[in-house]
Amino acid sequence: MMKEDNMNEEKISEYARLAVEVGVNLQKGQTLMVCCPVENAFFARKIADCAYERGAKDVIVDWRDDYISRKHWLYADDSLFDRVYPWDADKRNTLAKEGAAYIFICGDDPENLKGVNGERIRRWETARGRDLKEFLDLETSNGFPWCVISAPVKSWADKVFPGEENSLEKLWEAVFAAVRINGDGTAPEKWKEHCKRLESLCEKLNGYNFKSLHYKNSLGTDLTVEMPENHLWLGGGDTARSGVRFVANMPTEEVFCAPLKTGVNGTLCASMPLAYNGNIIEGIRFTFKDGRITEVHADKGEGILKGAVDTDEGSHYLGEIALVPYDSPISNTGILFYETLFDENASCHFAFGQAYSASIKGGDYMSAEELLKAGINAESCTHTDFMVGSADLSIVGTTHDGEEITVFENGNFAI
Ligand code: ZN
Ligand code: ZN
Repeated sequence: MMKEDNMNEEKISEYARLAVEVGVNLQKGQTLMVCCPVENAFFARKIADCAYERGAKDVIVDWRDDYISRKHWLYADDSLFDRVYPWDADKRNTLAKEGAAYIFICGDDPENLKGVNGERIRRWETARGRDLKEFLDLETSNGFPWCVISAPVKSWADKVFPGEENSLEKLWEAVFAAVRINGDGTAPEKWKEHCKRLESLCEKLNGYNFKSLHYKNSLGTDLTVEMPENHLWLGGGDTARSGVRFVANMPTEEVFCAPLKTGVNGTLCASMPLAYNGNIIEGIRFTFKDGRITEVHADKGEGILKGAVDTDEGSHYLGEIALVPYDSPISNTGILFYETLFDENASCHFAFGQAYSASIKGGDYMSAEELLKAGINAESCTHTDFMVGSADLSIVGTTHDGEEITVFENGNFAI
């Protein structure tokens, strides 16, 4: 067990600084919201130190705890799953409108909600989408800078490294490696270079301006994805409305965009299990017709997956298409993290549900109707990533002139 006192002090401090300086790029006078598991309070405290050093107006921490969460999901009054407490919604929505920065620290038992009524989860997702609409809309349109990072907990580490005594230590080291931290304080510089690399890949893809992409592999994926006119591939950093650059996910190895909402046809098979709301779903296969998911299959957790796809109308459509080479630093570790933040950065992925509005030129300043008109899935309260990359994945792009370009060959970029 890794305790605060034998935790690598340099690495933890560098990680906190990375999240505050590069992740949300906190500005003087700005409020910082942090959501953190109680086990990792020492990490939230480091983040608070960095934030106040940079002149934060305030640091507000929401603590969470797997044990209490599980009890809540199992035993709390049934009426609670149809709404967010108004004071809780008000807090989040108000801070988002103010442009407060938000650091979400993931690190939970991937199977914490095993056995919880799936209907409760589905109702809660819908309620959350409605009551936190302002917060969620601002989040997906870069209204405020946000960053999702992770800090391991024992239950999660035991899932990743079963039966190993020092699982927690090993997972911390895997996380540090994935976010380019070695304790010498150079992570912020490394990240600036890394983001530049991703940005130049986006420039290439935007130069092709593909009309469609065709995915194929031996798992059974055979899918055509049309791209909206005026689409924009993004990667590395994002620009908040305040003009400040931030990095929404650490790690991030992806370049992403949004598909044409009604332009997805064929079969899509996931290549990794998906840890979704405290449940593990395996063997996912979707069938699409004109963008809509018409068939949902999973070898394990099919009921939970069907519930997720049924969250609202928009969750029946894809909102994200993301390219990650099979030979990426995270996938080369060979570790299955059971945490989307890592697993999605080891693999090409898609998400069903809400698209990021910046996937369309000028999209951050468009209304939901305008975004829908521009062709992207802009009306869902959910966004669920699932992994599809494999060693034999090929992706062929077709340009508006009908030229075919091999974008991916044997799981890696060919451009
Ligand atoms: Zn993604
Ligand atoms: Zn995503």
